[in-house]
Parts: sequence; C-alpha cells; structure tokens
Amino acid sequence: ELENVVGGESRILVFVRVRPVSKKEKEIGSRCCVKITNRRDVYLSEFANENDYLRLNRIRGRHFTFDASFTDSATQQEVYLTTTSELVEAVLQGRNGSVFCYGATGAGKTYTMLGTLENPGVMVLAIKDLFGKIRQRSCDGSHVVHLSYLEVYNETVRDLLSPGRPLVLREDKQGIVAAGLTQYRAYSTDEVMFCSVLVMALLQQGNQNRTTEPTRANETSSRSHAILQVVVEYRVRDSSMNVVNRVGKLSLIDLAGSERALATDQRTLRSIEGANINRSLLALSSCINALVEGKKHIPYRNSKLTQLLKDSLGGTCNTVMIANISPSILSFSETQNTIHWADRAKEI
Ligand code: ADP
Ligand code: MG
Repeated sequence: ELENVVGGESRILVFVRVRPVSKKEKEIGSRCCVKITNRRDVYLSEFANENDYLRLNRIRGRHFTFDASFTDSATQQEVYLTTTSELVEAVLQGRNGSVFCYGATGAGKTYTMLGTLENPGVMVLAIKDLFGKIRQRSCDGSHVVHLSYLEVYNETVRDLLSPGRPLVLREDKQGIVAAGLTQYRAYSTDEVMFCSVLVMALLQQGNQNRTTEPTRANETSSRSHAILQVVVEYRVRDSSMNVVNRVGKLSLIDLAGSERALATDQRTLRSIEGANINRSLLALSSCINALVEGKKHIPYRNSKLTQLLKDSLGGTCNTVMIANISPSILSFSETQNTIHWADRAKEI
C-alpha cells in the first residue's frame, strides 16, 4: 500500500486519527459522530445545521476513504509504523519528507507528534528508528544527523531548543534557513546521545518553550506551529574512491489549531485573510490547493511556515498528513471541516 512513497512520484498520503472520548465529553454524556468502519473508512454523521446536531437529528452520513484511519485504540507505534516509517527509510536514501498533524485544538495533534514519556509519539519514534537504521548500516560510510526544533507564531520564527530573539529567514545554497538556529549534531558513532529518553526530554523542553497565550499561561497557544527538522547527511566512497554525499531531510510538524482557518477554497481564503487569523496555516492550505490543482506556481513565499517547508512539500518529496479529530458530537463542525480538508488533500 505504501510502496509508491519511495518511488519517484510525489503523492500525499492522508490519514485520520480519532482520539478517545475525553473525561469532559464523557461527563456531558456527549454522543459520537464518527466511526471507523474498516481500517480506511471514516463514517461521519451529517446534520443540516447546528440545532439538528445538538438534537441528534441526523440527516445522513457519509463515508470518506483515506490511506488508513486509526480508531481511538490505535497505539503510537501503530500510527508511527503506518504513517512515517517509510519516510524515515526514504530520508536515508536522500529523499525529503514531511509529516503534518492537522486538526482543531484538543483533537490530538501534540499527542500524536510528541506524545508522553510512557507513549512517545511520531517525533520520538522516528528519531529512534532513524538511529537504529543508521547503526545497522554504519559499516558502509558515515552518517551525521542534525536536529533542530523551531516555532512559527504570528509569523515570527523562534528557536525552541534555545529560546531567545526571533530568527530571520535567509536563502542560502541549501534553501531557506533560519539564521542562527541551534542544530544538535550526532555522528553514527555516538548515537547513544539520541536515546529516546533524551530525545523526549529535549523535545518536551522545546515544547514548553512554545508561545503561550497571555490569558492561559500554561497552555501552548493554539496558534503556534512547531517544526522538528532532522537532516541526515551520508558520506561514502564509491568503488573509484570518489566521495558521494547524500542529504535527506525529515520535517515533523505539529500545526496550529485549524478551527479558525479551515477554508479550502480561494475565495474564503481571501475573505478571512484580512482578519489575520493564521497566515501560515492559510498559506499551507493555499499551497496544498495549488498542488491539488497541478499549478506550476506554488505560493510558498506567502508565509514563514511555507517558506521553511518549501523543499519538503510537493515535487519529489514524500508528504504525510495526519488529520486529528475528536469523536464527540460537541466538535462536530470542526471534525467535518478537518475531514473535508483531508479529503481534498488526498487528491494530490
Ligand atoms: P492538540 O495538540 O491537537 O490541541 P492534544 O494532543 O493536546 O491536542 O490532545 C488533547 C488531550 O487529549 C490531551 O490531554 C491528550 O493527552 C489527549 N489525547 C489526544 N489523543 C490521544 C490519544 N490518541 N490517546 C490518549 N489520549 C489522547
Ligand atoms: Mg497541541
């Protein structure tokens, strides 16, 4: 099923993950409006309007098919293996890849990407897997891994591994880079530096450095995007002793909450752009729309997020979208928007 990921073709793989019913939703006794019928189909109840879904006056339901869909009992390992492990393999072959978690605030993006100490998420599992794979091949050539973690908030780029002043984006021969961004470096010989407990500690610390809203000091702002980038450099001498250099980059992105920026068509995009909702999330939607429509010009320059990911979206890159949703009817309209957005992204 995932075979064409490593091939030459570019395609977006789209997944849906439903989180468990929360304690609060349970207490209210809210019903569920989504069901995963086999490992791919999401069945979403549909309602004519808000009053109808509050009264459970369902008008119909609709099936959506994705590359895979995860129920609330899917493990972190399962999600990692199905969505991201092929990309890690491809990065070692020198092919860029990116994984996005998209969805409303509270839908499970950070849980999927970062996870907890007991249940580490995609970011941690990917790095662990990467080092395991490098160790297996370290006899033929040397690998260097660079790791950076940054935030885009209100079109300001900040280093999450060493917080300080905003970073400026520059274009150099590697593409767009954030000047002065901290790069953790590890060589194939000292992979112990990147044991998963340490990676988890590093990323959790980084996550705590994400911007918080003044009114809710302990909660990460729903408007903050966190980007982990892992660059793998591989150097080997071929049979005629020439040095061969191969570089692959994996970007893992915990996007801002999509609840206020769910437009999928250009007209709605433009009308809410003025409201300065979340430029980067809108720009990502625009780029995906342009890719869906097969346009030659992809508007990467419109935001910091899309500039940073220019070499990791479309073209010959592997792209994975994980749409996170709540099962509860209380989040019905957000879920519906997320599913429609994911369904659209699938067409690339
Ligand atoms: P988001 O980052 O999209 O705002 P979170 O990842 O913070 O949402 O998830 C909201 C809450 O739900 C958190 O307390 C998180 O631990 C919990 N949660 C989300 N997904 C799962 C899951 N698959 N299994 C268990 N708990 C989850
Ligand atoms: Mg979050």
